[in-house]
Amino acid sequence: MAIDASLIEADANKQNSTPKEEWDASSIDPTAAPRAVREFLDTLDEAAFGAASEVQPKFTSHSDPASQWTAARKGPAFFNYSDIYLIDADHGVIVDVEVTRSIRQAEVGSTKTMLKRVKARFDLHPERLIADTAYGTGPMLGWLVDRKIAPHIPVFDKSGRNDGTWTRADFEWDAKNDQYICPEGHALKQFRRNYSDPNRGSTGKGTARYRALKEICQTCPSKAKCCPNADARKISREETEDARQVASDIANTRHYDISMKLRKKVEMLFAHLKRILRLGRLRLLGPCGANDEFLLAATAQNLRKLEKIFPAPRQTRKA
Ligand code: SF4
Repeated sequence: MAIDASLIEADANKQNSTPKEEWDASSIDPTAAPRAVREFLDTLDEAAFGAASEVQPKFTSHSDPASQWTAARKGPAFFNYSDIYLIDADHGVIVDVEVTRSIRQAEVGSTKTMLKRVKARFDLHPERLIADTAYGTGPMLGWLVDRKIAPHIPVFDKSGRNDGTWTRADFEWDAKNDQYICPEGHALKQFRRNYSDPNRGSTGKGTARYRALKEICQTCPSKAKCCPNADARKISREETEDARQVASDIANTRHYDISMKLRKKVEMLFAHLKRILRLGRLRLLGPCGANDEFLLAATAQNLRKLEKIFPAPRQTRKA
């Protein structure tokens, strides 16, 4: 399966909005508010909407406050929703649709909802999930690997350095001995003593820090390339590092190259949605309105696809 999200413009305008400094959701009277505004209030605690981020958008629409003021790829900002497709990567059939606020946390978080839903509804469990870098965070990769879904996803790695010194990827992970081996062949360890108090040892949770010995680094011929500004090299290892390693290993396979080509099928469905079905802007307001339009459009796309996969038998004319 492959997953991706696309921004679809909401039926809302900046002229009818309030800047975040003046926006006060608690002043809305739910009994007198229109449906879209009540839906906004109802979704304030949902992970796909209000609870996705504490950061307030720059503007909030009066007619559709759940829509998100944001820009797509450095273009001008507008009010929109995210339309998320989970597709069968072999045939390009959409197996699930979700609507979220247009922020990455909400879009990526919906992956879990959708995978659980297709399992419950259709008993579908993908062998692999194909997605872009936004989905390649440690927690997301860990969640997939725990469920035996191979992540064909580029790893979102913030450990890179832009000063030309060696990155974590240049160090070899030695799982058996719980240590990294530096390019000069020395060990970076988390603990160098056997603590009598077990609480001082490795917890197996959170971020672990591995350090080389100061006296070795000080005399190392590669220190300038490794840790020019520190006494000794340190490397952090997150709890989900094993899952990141699984994704990195997959990225070196031929199957991964095929997956990256298959990922384009989701992008093509969004292009078809906007250019051919002309769903560039929603006509209905609120999360439910967006959900209805996204579902109907996906159904139309699936019918066209299924017609190609299972063409109707040709009718033969009777003489
Ligand atoms: S500076 Fe230390 S960690 Fe880096 S390569 Fe040299 S010995 Fe290894």
